[in-house]
Amino acid sequence: MAVEWTITIEGKNEFGDTCRKELRIDKTWERLFDGDVGLSVEDGKKIMAALQSAVVNHEAETYAQFRRPCPDCHTFRPVKDYTTRRIRTVFGTVKVRNPRWMICRDCYPGMDGALAPLKEICPDRAMSELMELTARLGSMMPYRQAAKVLAEFLPIEPTESHATVRKRTIRIGKRLDDQIMRETWRVRSQMDDRHQLEMQLPGDRRKEFVVSIDTAHVRSAEPNSARNFELVVARCGRGGRGEPGGRYFVTGSTAQHAIRDRTLHSLREVGYRGFGDVTVISDGAEILKRLPRAMPKPTAHIIDWFHIAMKIQPMQQIADHIVRSRSDPFDALPTIDRDIRAVKWRLWHGRVDRAIRDLESLLTGLKQPQGNAEFSIARLHSLGAQLLTYARSNRGAIIDYGKRYRGGLRVATTLAESAVNSLVGKRMVKKQQMRWSLHGAHMLMQVRTAELNGELRNRLRAPLRQPERNAPLIFKPKPPLLRAA
Ligand SMILES: [Zn+2]
Repeated sequence: MAVEWTITIEGKNEFGDTCRKELRIDKTWERLFDGDVGLSVEDGKKIMAALQSAVVNHEAETYAQFRRPCPDCHTFRPVKDYTTRRIRTVFGTVKVRNPRWMICRDCYPGMDGALAPLKEICPDRAMSELMELTARLGSMMPYRQAAKVLAEFLPIEPTESHATVRKRTIRIGKRLDDQIMRETWRVRSQMDDRHQLEMQLPGDRRKEFVVSIDTAHVRSAEPNSARNFELVVARCGRGGRGEPGGRYFVTGSTAQHAIRDRTLHSLREVGYRGFGDVTVISDGAEILKRLPRAMPKPTAHIIDWFHIAMKIQPMQQIADHIVRSRSDPFDALPTIDRDIRAVKWRLWHGRVDRAIRDLESLLTGLKQPQGNAEFSIARLHSLGAQLLTYARSNRGAIIDYGKRYRGGLRVATTLAESAVNSLVGKRMVKKQQMRWSLHGAHMLMQVRTAELNGELRNRLRAPLRQPERNAPLIFKPKPPLLRAA
Protein backbone atom coordinates (compact mmCIF):
# COMPACT_ATOMS: atom_id res chain seq x y z
CA MET A 1 0.00 0.00 0.00
CA ALA A 2 1.13 3.49 -0.66
CA VAL A 3 -0.03 7.07 -0.52
CA GLU A 4 0.89 9.48 -3.26
CA TRP A 5 1.24 13.07 -2.24
CA THR A 6 1.17 15.91 -4.70
CA ILE A 7 2.52 19.31 -3.80
CA THR A 8 1.61 22.17 -6.10
CA ILE A 9 3.04 25.65 -6.13
CA GLU A 10 1.63 28.42 -8.29
CA GLY A 11 2.92 31.93 -8.86
CA LYS A 12 1.76 34.92 -10.84
CA ASN A 13 3.71 38.11 -11.59
CA GLU A 14 2.63 41.61 -12.58
CA PHE A 15 3.08 40.77 -16.25
CA GLY A 16 0.41 38.10 -15.87
CA ASP A 17 2.85 35.24 -16.31
CA THR A 18 2.00 32.26 -14.20
CA CYS A 19 4.24 29.56 -12.98
CA ARG A 20 3.09 26.18 -11.76
CA LYS A 21 5.12 23.37 -10.37
CA GLU A 22 4.00 19.97 -9.20
CA LEU A 23 5.91 17.55 -7.12
CA ARG A 24 4.93 14.01 -6.21
CA ILE A 25 6.12 11.98 -3.28
CA ASP A 26 5.26 8.34 -2.71
CA LYS A 27 4.98 7.10 0.81
CA THR A 28 4.60 3.41 1.47
CA TRP A 29 2.86 2.04 4.54
CA GLU A 30 5.60 -0.44 5.31
CA ARG A 31 7.95 2.22 6.47
CA LEU A 32 5.49 3.08 9.26
CA PHE A 33 6.56 -0.10 10.98
CA ASP A 34 10.10 1.25 11.00
CA GLY A 35 8.88 4.32 12.84
CA ASP A 36 9.08 6.56 9.78
CA VAL A 37 6.00 8.68 10.22
CA GLY A 38 5.58 11.77 8.06
CA LEU A 39 8.10 13.59 5.93
CA SER A 40 11.78 13.12 6.60
CA VAL A 41 14.64 15.58 6.37
CA GLU A 42 15.50 14.06 3.00
CA ASP A 43 11.91 14.55 1.79
CA GLY A 44 12.07 18.10 3.05
CA LYS A 45 15.27 18.77 1.12
CA LYS A 46 13.76 17.31 -2.04
CA ILE A 47 10.53 19.31 -1.72
CA MET A 48 12.20 22.59 -0.89
CA ALA A 49 14.77 22.19 -3.66
CA ALA A 50 12.00 21.65 -6.22
CA LEU A 51 9.89 24.56 -4.97
CA GLN A 52 12.89 26.82 -4.72
CA SER A 53 13.84 26.11 -8.30
CA ALA A 54 10.34 27.17 -9.43
CA VAL A 55 10.31 30.33 -7.32
CA VAL A 56 13.83 31.45 -8.20
CA ASN A 57 13.28 30.90 -11.91
CA HIS A 58 10.07 32.88 -11.84
CA GLU A 59 11.62 35.72 -9.85
CA ALA A 60 14.74 35.87 -11.98
CA GLU A 61 12.62 35.95 -15.13
CA THR A 62 10.40 38.70 -13.73
CA TYR A 63 13.30 40.80 -12.53
CA ALA A 64 15.06 40.53 -15.88
CA GLN A 65 11.88 41.79 -17.54
CA PHE A 66 11.65 44.70 -15.10
CA ARG A 67 15.09 45.72 -16.16
CA ARG A 68 14.52 45.30 -19.88
CA PRO A 69 13.17 48.78 -20.78
CA CYS A 70 15.59 51.60 -21.35
CA PRO A 71 15.32 54.01 -18.40
CA ASP A 72 15.41 57.03 -20.79
CA CYS A 73 13.05 56.17 -23.66
CA HIS A 74 11.21 53.24 -22.03
CA THR A 75 11.51 51.01 -25.09
CA PHE A 76 12.80 47.48 -24.75
CA ARG A 77 16.54 47.18 -24.94
CA PRO A 78 17.89 44.64 -27.42
CA VAL A 79 19.07 41.25 -26.24
CA LYS A 80 22.80 40.70 -26.23
CA ASP A 81 22.69 37.04 -25.30
CA TYR A 82 21.27 34.44 -22.94
CA THR A 83 23.49 32.34 -20.75
CA THR A 84 22.82 30.22 -17.72
CA ARG A 85 23.52 31.44 -14.25
CA ARG A 86 23.67 29.29 -11.17
CA ILE A 87 22.23 30.84 -8.05
CA ARG A 88 22.99 29.14 -4.79
CA THR A 89 20.23 29.26 -2.21
CA VAL A 90 19.58 27.69 1.17
CA PHE A 91 17.39 25.19 -0.70
CA GLY A 92 19.84 24.16 -3.34
CA THR A 93 21.48 25.55 -6.43
CA VAL A 94 19.09 26.78 -9.10
CA LYS A 95 19.99 27.20 -12.74
CA VAL A 96 18.30 30.19 -14.31
CA ARG A 97 18.28 31.83 -17.71
CA ASN A 98 20.59 34.80 -17.54
CA PRO A 99 19.83 37.46 -20.16
CA ARG A 100 22.03 40.42 -20.96
CA TRP A 101 20.39 43.57 -22.32
CA MET A 102 22.25 45.92 -24.63
CA ILE A 103 22.52 49.57 -23.72
CA CYS A 104 19.88 51.52 -25.69
CA ARG A 105 21.33 52.55 -29.05
CA ASP A 106 18.95 55.49 -29.47
CA CYS A 107 19.75 57.06 -26.13
CA TYR A 108 23.43 56.15 -26.01
CA PRO A 109 24.60 56.08 -29.62
CA GLY A 110 28.06 54.73 -30.11
CA MET A 111 28.07 53.04 -26.73
CA ASP A 112 28.43 49.32 -26.88
CA GLY A 113 27.73 47.93 -23.44
CA ALA A 114 25.41 45.42 -21.91
CA LEU A 115 23.94 44.82 -18.48
CA ALA A 116 23.25 41.56 -16.69
CA PRO A 117 20.19 42.20 -14.49
CA LEU A 118 20.66 39.06 -12.40
CA LYS A 119 24.06 40.26 -11.31
CA GLU A 120 22.27 43.11 -9.56
CA ILE A 121 20.07 40.93 -7.41
CA CYS A 122 22.63 38.26 -6.82
CA PRO A 123 26.17 39.61 -6.86
CA ASP A 124 27.59 36.70 -4.89
CA ARG A 125 25.83 34.13 -7.10
CA ALA A 126 24.23 33.11 -3.83
CA MET A 127 21.21 34.45 -2.01
CA SER A 128 22.05 36.64 0.94
CA GLU A 129 20.44 34.33 3.47
CA LEU A 130 22.76 31.54 2.40
CA MET A 131 25.75 33.87 2.62
CA GLU A 132 24.67 35.04 6.05
CA LEU A 133 23.87 31.58 7.38
CA THR A 134 27.14 30.15 6.11
CA ALA A 135 29.13 33.03 7.57
CA ARG A 136 27.34 32.80 10.90
CA LEU A 137 28.01 29.10 11.25
CA GLY A 138 31.54 29.58 9.99
CA SER A 139 32.16 32.16 12.69
CA MET A 140 30.86 29.85 15.40
CA MET A 141 32.51 26.53 14.62
CA PRO A 142 35.35 25.13 12.52
CA TYR A 143 34.70 25.59 8.80
CA ARG A 144 34.68 21.86 8.19
CA GLN A 145 32.05 21.32 10.86
CA ALA A 146 29.93 24.22 9.59
CA ALA A 147 29.93 22.69 6.11
CA LYS A 148 28.69 19.39 7.57
CA VAL A 149 25.92 21.04 9.59
CA LEU A 150 24.68 22.91 6.54
CA ALA A 151 24.63 19.76 4.42
CA GLU A 152 22.85 17.89 7.18
CA PHE A 153 19.69 19.95 6.96
CA LEU A 154 19.77 21.74 3.65
CA PRO A 155 19.97 20.49 0.08
CA ILE A 156 23.43 21.95 -0.32
CA GLU A 157 25.56 20.81 -3.21
CA PRO A 158 28.36 18.39 -2.34
CA THR A 159 30.85 20.81 -3.87
CA GLU A 160 30.16 23.29 -1.08
CA SER A 161 32.95 22.33 1.27
CA HIS A 162 34.78 23.91 4.18
CA ALA A 163 36.59 26.02 1.58
CA THR A 164 33.24 27.48 0.50
CA VAL A 165 32.34 28.21 4.12
CA ARG A 166 35.66 29.92 4.71
CA LYS A 167 35.43 31.96 1.54
CA ARG A 168 31.92 33.16 2.36
CA THR A 169 32.70 33.90 5.99
CA ILE A 170 35.67 36.01 5.01
CA ARG A 171 33.71 37.74 2.25
CA ILE A 172 30.89 38.64 4.64
CA GLY A 173 33.45 39.69 7.25
CA LYS A 174 35.08 41.95 4.69
CA ARG A 175 31.73 43.49 3.81
CA LEU A 176 31.02 44.23 7.48
CA ASP A 177 34.53 45.53 7.95
CA ASP A 178 34.25 47.91 4.99
CA GLN A 179 30.94 49.14 6.38
CA ILE A 180 32.49 49.84 9.79
CA MET A 181 35.44 51.58 8.15
CA ARG A 182 33.07 53.89 6.28
CA GLU A 183 31.08 54.57 9.45
CA THR A 184 34.27 55.16 11.39
CA TRP A 185 35.35 57.68 8.85
CA ARG A 186 32.01 59.45 9.24
CA VAL A 187 32.25 59.34 13.04
CA ARG A 188 35.59 61.07 12.86
CA SER A 189 34.20 63.84 10.69
CA GLN A 190 31.09 64.22 12.85
CA MET A 191 32.76 64.39 16.21
CA ASP A 192 31.75 68.07 16.50
CA ASP A 193 28.08 67.33 16.05
CA ARG A 194 27.51 66.92 19.73
CA HIS A 195 24.07 65.79 20.66
CA GLN A 196 24.88 63.29 23.27
CA LEU A 197 22.13 61.30 24.89
CA GLU A 198 23.64 62.44 28.15
CA MET A 199 21.91 61.93 31.41
CA GLN A 200 22.99 64.92 33.42
CA LEU A 201 22.86 63.26 36.80
CA PRO A 202 26.11 63.70 38.68
CA GLY A 203 27.34 60.44 40.11
CA ASP A 204 24.95 58.42 38.01
CA ARG A 205 26.79 55.25 37.18
CA ARG A 206 25.03 55.04 33.86
CA LYS A 207 26.77 58.24 32.82
CA GLU A 208 30.15 56.61 32.47
CA PHE A 209 31.17 54.92 29.23
CA VAL A 210 33.26 51.88 29.96
CA VAL A 211 35.59 50.27 27.46
CA SER A 212 36.69 46.83 28.62
CA ILE A 213 39.54 45.82 26.41
CA ASP A 214 41.83 42.84 26.25
CA THR A 215 44.01 40.96 23.82
CA ALA A 216 43.86 37.37 22.62
CA HIS A 217 46.84 35.53 21.15
CA VAL A 218 46.26 33.51 18.02
CA ARG A 219 48.65 31.11 16.34
CA SER A 220 49.78 32.40 13.01
CA ALA A 221 49.59 30.43 9.80
CA GLU A 222 51.87 32.75 7.91
CA PRO A 223 55.29 31.18 7.54
CA ASN A 224 57.22 34.44 7.42
CA SER A 225 55.66 36.12 10.42
CA ALA A 226 55.88 35.68 14.16
CA ARG A 227 54.42 32.55 15.74
CA ASN A 228 51.52 34.48 17.19
CA PHE A 229 49.57 37.60 16.54
CA GLU A 230 47.19 39.51 18.72
CA LEU A 231 43.55 40.32 18.36
CA VAL A 232 42.17 43.22 20.34
CA VAL A 233 38.86 42.22 21.92
CA ALA A 234 36.63 44.83 23.53
CA ARG A 235 33.22 45.68 24.86
CA CYS A 236 31.95 49.23 25.04
CA GLY A 237 28.95 50.25 27.03
CA ARG A 238 27.35 52.28 29.74
CA GLY A 239 26.26 51.14 33.08
CA GLY A 240 27.79 49.70 36.16
CA ARG A 241 28.68 46.40 37.67
CA GLY A 242 26.27 43.59 36.85
CA GLU A 243 24.74 45.34 33.87
CA PRO A 244 25.26 44.10 30.31
CA GLY A 245 28.71 44.90 29.06
CA GLY A 246 27.74 46.59 25.81
CA ARG A 247 28.83 46.20 22.22
CA TYR A 248 31.64 43.99 21.13
CA PHE A 249 34.38 44.70 18.72
CA VAL A 250 37.41 42.73 17.68
CA THR A 251 40.22 43.96 15.49
CA GLY A 252 43.42 42.51 14.20
CA SER A 253 44.95 45.93 13.65
CA THR A 254 46.89 46.85 16.73
CA ALA A 255 47.91 50.31 15.56
CA GLN A 256 46.89 52.97 18.05
CA HIS A 257 44.67 54.85 15.61
CA ALA A 258 42.96 51.64 14.49
CA ILE A 259 42.06 50.66 18.05
CA ARG A 260 40.94 54.20 18.82
CA ASP A 261 38.74 54.38 15.70
CA ARG A 262 37.05 51.08 16.48
CA THR A 263 36.52 52.17 20.08
CA LEU A 264 34.99 55.50 19.04
CA HIS A 265 32.76 53.74 16.52
CA SER A 266 31.48 51.33 19.15
CA LEU A 267 31.05 54.09 21.73
CA ARG A 268 29.06 56.11 19.25
CA GLU A 269 26.72 53.18 18.76
CA VAL A 270 26.00 53.25 22.48
CA GLY A 271 25.34 56.98 22.59
CA TYR A 272 28.74 58.62 23.01
CA ARG A 273 29.14 61.91 21.16
CA GLY A 274 32.62 63.02 22.04
CA PHE A 275 32.26 64.14 25.61
CA GLY A 276 31.45 62.52 28.91
CA ASP A 277 33.54 60.27 31.08
CA VAL A 278 35.21 57.37 29.35
CA THR A 279 36.95 54.72 31.39
CA VAL A 280 39.20 52.19 29.72
CA ILE A 281 39.74 49.00 31.73
CA SER A 282 42.60 46.81 30.57
CA ASP A 283 45.25 44.46 31.88
CA GLY A 284 47.95 47.03 31.17
CA ALA A 285 49.21 45.48 27.92
CA GLU A 286 51.37 48.03 26.10
CA ILE A 287 49.23 48.26 22.96
CA LEU A 288 46.16 48.94 25.11
CA LYS A 289 47.86 51.49 27.34
CA ARG A 290 48.22 53.78 24.35
CA LEU A 291 44.46 53.87 23.75
CA PRO A 292 43.39 56.18 26.62
CA ARG A 293 45.91 58.80 25.49
CA ALA A 294 44.49 58.76 21.96
CA MET A 295 40.88 59.19 23.14
CA PRO A 296 38.98 62.45 23.61
CA LYS A 297 39.24 63.82 27.13
CA PRO A 298 38.33 63.01 29.83
CA THR A 299 39.38 59.41 29.41
CA ALA A 300 40.71 57.50 32.39
CA HIS A 301 42.63 54.27 32.27
CA ILE A 302 42.35 51.74 35.04
CA ILE A 303 43.91 48.36 35.49
CA ASP A 304 41.47 45.50 35.61
CA TRP A 305 41.19 44.49 39.26
CA PHE A 306 40.82 40.87 38.24
CA HIS A 307 44.35 40.88 36.81
CA ILE A 308 45.79 42.27 40.03
CA ALA A 309 43.87 39.80 42.15
CA MET A 310 45.06 36.92 40.01
CA LYS A 311 48.67 37.92 40.62
CA ILE A 312 48.19 38.03 44.39
CA GLN A 313 46.18 34.84 44.71
CA PRO A 314 49.03 32.33 44.21
CA MET A 315 51.21 34.30 46.64
CA GLN A 316 48.48 34.07 49.22
CA GLN A 317 48.17 30.34 48.68
CA ILE A 318 51.86 29.77 49.34
CA ALA A 319 51.83 32.01 52.39
CA ASP A 320 48.75 30.30 53.80
CA HIS A 321 50.43 26.97 53.34
CA ILE A 322 53.57 28.16 55.15
CA VAL A 323 51.50 29.46 58.04
CA ARG A 324 49.26 26.42 58.26
CA SER A 325 52.10 23.90 58.17
CA ARG A 326 54.27 26.09 60.39
CA SER A 327 57.17 24.96 58.27
CA ASP A 328 60.68 26.40 58.42
CA PRO A 329 60.16 29.81 56.86
CA PHE A 330 57.40 30.51 59.36
CA ASP A 331 60.03 31.26 62.00
CA ALA A 332 61.62 33.86 59.79
CA LEU A 333 58.39 35.19 58.29
CA PRO A 334 55.71 34.80 60.92
CA THR A 335 53.55 37.51 59.40
CA ILE A 336 53.95 36.63 55.71
CA ASP A 337 50.25 35.90 55.14
CA ARG A 338 49.17 39.10 56.84
CA ASP A 339 51.79 41.09 54.88
CA ILE A 340 50.49 39.81 51.56
CA ARG A 341 46.91 40.48 52.56
CA ALA A 342 47.94 44.01 53.50
CA VAL A 343 49.48 44.56 50.05
CA LYS A 344 46.25 43.40 48.46
CA TRP A 345 44.20 45.68 50.70
CA ARG A 346 46.36 48.68 49.80
CA LEU A 347 46.09 47.95 46.09
CA TRP A 348 42.30 47.56 46.39
CA HIS A 349 42.17 51.04 47.94
CA GLY A 350 44.48 52.52 45.32
CA ARG A 351 47.37 53.12 47.73
CA VAL A 352 49.93 52.09 45.18
CA ASP A 353 53.00 53.80 46.58
CA ARG A 354 52.44 52.28 49.98
CA ALA A 355 51.77 48.87 48.41
CA ILE A 356 54.99 49.12 46.40
CA ARG A 357 56.99 50.01 49.53
CA ASP A 358 55.45 47.13 51.47
CA LEU A 359 56.09 44.76 48.63
CA GLU A 360 59.72 45.89 48.39
CA SER A 361 60.38 45.21 52.07
CA LEU A 362 58.51 41.93 51.83
CA LEU A 363 60.82 40.89 48.99
CA THR A 364 63.89 41.95 50.98
CA GLY A 365 62.69 39.73 53.81
CA LEU A 366 62.39 36.83 51.43
CA LYS A 367 66.02 37.10 50.36
CA GLN A 368 67.38 35.86 53.72
CA PRO A 369 68.41 32.19 53.86
CA GLN A 370 65.34 30.08 54.56
CA GLY A 371 66.56 26.57 55.26
CA ASN A 372 64.87 23.74 53.40
CA ALA A 373 61.76 25.61 52.39
CA GLU A 374 63.76 27.24 49.62
CA PHE A 375 61.38 26.26 46.88
CA SER A 376 58.27 27.97 48.22
CA ILE A 377 60.29 31.01 49.18
CA ALA A 378 61.86 31.23 45.73
CA ARG A 379 58.43 30.91 44.16
CA LEU A 380 56.99 33.53 46.48
CA HIS A 381 59.88 35.82 45.68
CA SER A 382 59.42 35.47 41.94
CA LEU A 383 55.66 36.05 42.15
CA GLY A 384 56.22 39.04 44.40
CA ALA A 385 58.78 40.48 41.99
CA GLN A 386 56.31 40.10 39.11
CA LEU A 387 53.61 41.86 41.08
CA LEU A 388 56.03 44.63 41.98
CA THR A 389 56.99 45.19 38.34
CA TYR A 390 53.34 45.18 37.38
CA ALA A 391 52.39 47.67 40.09
CA ARG A 392 55.29 49.95 39.20
CA SER A 393 54.60 50.01 35.49
CA ASN A 394 50.87 50.58 36.00
CA ARG A 395 51.19 52.94 38.94
CA GLY A 396 48.93 55.63 37.52
CA ALA A 397 46.18 53.24 36.54
CA ILE A 398 45.71 51.46 39.86
CA ILE A 399 42.88 53.38 41.45
CA ASP A 400 40.67 53.14 44.50
CA TYR A 401 38.76 50.03 43.47
CA GLY A 402 36.93 49.93 46.80
CA LYS A 403 35.37 53.30 46.12
CA ARG A 404 34.39 52.40 42.55
CA TYR A 405 32.99 49.11 43.74
CA ARG A 406 30.84 50.76 46.40
CA GLY A 407 29.63 53.23 43.79
CA GLY A 408 28.38 50.32 41.69
CA LEU A 409 30.95 50.94 38.96
CA ARG A 410 32.91 48.32 37.12
CA VAL A 411 36.31 47.38 38.51
CA ALA A 412 37.08 44.55 36.12
CA THR A 413 36.68 43.89 32.43
CA THR A 414 33.66 41.78 31.73
CA LEU A 415 35.71 40.01 29.11
CA ALA A 416 37.06 37.28 31.29
CA GLU A 417 33.76 35.47 31.15
CA SER A 418 32.37 37.05 28.01
CA ALA A 419 31.16 35.19 24.98
CA VAL A 420 33.65 36.79 22.63
CA ASN A 421 36.65 35.88 24.66
CA SER A 422 35.52 32.32 25.03
CA LEU A 423 34.81 32.37 21.33
CA VAL A 424 38.12 33.77 20.27
CA GLY A 425 39.47 31.19 22.66
CA LYS A 426 37.40 28.25 21.51
CA ARG A 427 37.50 29.07 17.85
CA MET A 428 41.11 30.17 17.62
CA VAL A 429 43.26 29.53 20.63
CA LYS A 430 42.31 26.28 22.31
CA LYS A 431 42.66 24.13 19.22
CA GLN A 432 46.41 24.25 19.08
CA GLN A 433 46.73 22.70 15.65
CA MET A 434 44.69 25.47 14.11
CA ARG A 435 46.58 28.33 12.60
CA TRP A 436 45.20 31.56 11.29
CA SER A 437 46.05 34.36 8.98
CA LEU A 438 45.64 37.77 10.53
CA HIS A 439 43.29 38.74 7.70
CA GLY A 440 41.16 35.61 8.06
CA ALA A 441 40.94 35.91 11.84
CA HIS A 442 40.04 39.60 11.70
CA MET A 443 37.30 39.06 9.09
CA LEU A 444 35.86 36.06 10.89
CA MET A 445 35.62 38.09 14.07
CA GLN A 446 33.71 40.84 12.24
CA VAL A 447 31.01 38.27 11.52
CA ARG A 448 31.06 36.92 15.05
CA THR A 449 30.81 40.31 16.72
CA ALA A 450 28.08 41.53 14.37
CA GLU A 451 26.13 38.43 15.32
CA LEU A 452 26.73 38.96 19.04
CA ASN A 453 25.76 42.62 18.71
CA GLY A 454 22.51 41.44 17.13
CA GLU A 455 23.04 43.36 13.90
CA LEU A 456 24.42 40.83 11.43
CA ARG A 457 21.22 40.65 9.42
CA ASN A 458 20.54 44.39 9.33
CA ARG A 459 24.08 45.22 8.34
CA LEU A 460 23.99 42.76 5.47
CA ARG A 461 20.57 43.83 4.25
CA ALA A 462 21.64 47.42 3.72
CA PRO A 463 20.95 48.03 0.02
CA LEU A 464 23.86 46.86 -2.05
CA ARG A 465 23.27 49.21 -4.93
CA GLN A 466 20.84 51.79 -6.23
CA PRO A 467 18.77 51.10 -9.34
CA GLU A 468 19.31 53.39 -12.31
CA ARG A 469 18.09 56.74 -11.11
CA ASN A 470 15.71 57.60 -13.93
CA ALA A 471 14.19 54.18 -14.45
CA PRO A 472 10.44 54.48 -15.15
CA LEU A 473 8.52 54.10 -11.92
CA ILE A 474 6.68 50.90 -12.69
CA PHE A 475 9.90 49.25 -13.70
CA LYS A 476 11.82 50.39 -10.70
CA PRO A 477 12.52 47.30 -8.65
CA LYS A 478 10.82 47.45 -5.30
CA PRO A 479 13.06 47.63 -2.28
CA PRO A 480 12.40 44.08 -1.05
CA LEU A 481 13.43 42.69 -4.38
CA LEU A 482 16.63 44.68 -4.31
CA ARG A 483 17.34 43.90 -0.73
CA ALA A 484 16.93 40.23 -1.43
CA ALA A 485 20.34 40.53 -3.03
ZN1 LIG B 1 16.56 54.52 -24.73
